[in-house]
Amino acid sequence: MNPYVSKTLDTLQARNPAQSLFLQAVTEVFESLDPILAETPDVEAYSILERITEPERQVMFRVSWVDDAGRIQVNRGYRVGFSSALGPYKGGMRFHPTVRLDVVKFLAFEQIFKNSLTGLGIGGGKGGSDFDPRGRSDSEVMRFCQAFMTELHHFVGENTDVPAGDIGVGAREIGYLFGQYKRLTKRHDRGVLTGKPVGLGGSLVRKEATGYGAVYFATEMLATRGETLEGKTVVVSGSGNVALYCARKAQALGATVVAMSDSQGSIHDPAGIDLDIVAALKEVERARISEYPKRRNGSKFLPEEKVYSIRCDVAFPCATQNELTLADARMLLDNGCIAVIEGANMPTEPDAIAALGKKNALFAPGKAANAGGVAVSALEMQQNASLQSWNFKQVDQRLKEIMAGIHSDCVYYSGKYNRPEDYVFGANVAGFLKVANAIQAYGVT
Ligand code: NDP
Repeated sequence: MNPYVSKTLDTLQARNPAQSLFLQAVTEVFESLDPILAETPDVEAYSILERITEPERQVMFRVSWVDDAGRIQVNRGYRVGFSSALGPYKGGMRFHPTVRLDVVKFLAFEQIFKNSLTGLGIGGGKGGSDFDPRGRSDSEVMRFCQAFMTELHHFVGENTDVPAGDIGVGAREIGYLFGQYKRLTKRHDRGVLTGKPVGLGGSLVRKEATGYGAVYFATEMLATRGETLEGKTVVVSGSGNVALYCARKAQALGATVVAMSDSQGSIHDPAGIDLDIVAALKEVERARISEYPKRRNGSKFLPEEKVYSIRCDVAFPCATQNELTLADARMLLDNGCIAVIEGANMPTEPDAIAALGKKNALFAPGKAANAGGVAVSALEMQQNASLQSWNFKQVDQRLKEIMAGIHSDCVYYSGKYNRPEDYVFGANVAGFLKVANAIQAYGVT
């Protein structure tokens, strides 16, 4: 490893000792930078690595709210503005009991490069809370969102920081957050949040964008080997927003999605999952995936089992970080899997990525493959700014073009530095160069 990289990593480790996910995300990017550092001494001369790994700002705040039983609940809120080199901070908010500063920082750091890859003028940020919306009533979720925004509204704005959704935050939560923002500020600043319900200024295709985008990326990647999704057997982990629309697009392109999951286990449906049932369970009833076999003959629920034990040609991890381990990667390879495309953020452990690469399986990192969500968020900002609403076909077409553009950037940089088919390398280098150049151009800020 380049000495400047290892020195920066050592310092980072010493300053952030309990932030293993953040350090994992940084290490993955830094491991790709050797050839860039060798040909661009300015990166070290201008302390770009030190600057790119220290968030511009980090906000933590108390969120007090009253539950249905009249008890006062206290959660913690976060918003990390990591880099505004390319534009206002942009990135989702996660409501999940596992959220802590380490999680928000790793997600915000990844977001810098993902947003850079889209080619749209957006910086990197992320936020959230350890609030768990599962099992909470609608009014509890609303009161929590109102309390959260009461603090957050001081820090957001269409030219400063534009949050969106992530795990546990969908159109319902964004609607409540926007309502409270409007009430507090007396302003209808549509551009302050994305992922809004369509009636409140949201964009068509935003709901579908991350999942569809991952499949568009997969299509481009498979095409480099003369393959398509047609006739392929696919597994998708998770059953939330990203997983559902990833599965829908994969099936629309002729694949058979045979397994999905949630945090309690997986469903296996060899005939192909009926996604209307999954959508009803997850989007309407907010029920567990274990209910699925009760409505579908020939399928079964596998408690505590992951989708990776089920034979497939292509896998889309779309649930959460570090869910696909080395053992899972080995199982996928033994079963003949030819490609893994990350719909989630950093779902594949580093040694699992290495194992897939060794056996020549294609691997697409989330910062490239799941950039469709933030890309359509930026299109939502464009529509809000111009007081326009584009139709489904227009937005979907732009999404396809953006995903194809990200794919060609990955291919270009991996080819240029003699690392063919290394999409992790290609995405890191393509994302890094734009941000590094911008940081240098601003002077010392
Ligand atoms: P959702 O909250 O809609 O869904 C998350 C899904 O993952 C749920 O089905 C959840 O199940 C499941 N899950 C969580 N932990 C596990 C686990 N350990 N094993 C199996 N399943 C699990 O979130 P999203 O779909 O929005 O986000 C999923 C991933 O995609 C995250 O990594 C997110 O950061 C990333 N992402 C999301 C974007 C977006 O536009 N929404 C954009 C880019 C990336 P349960 O209900 O049991 O918890």
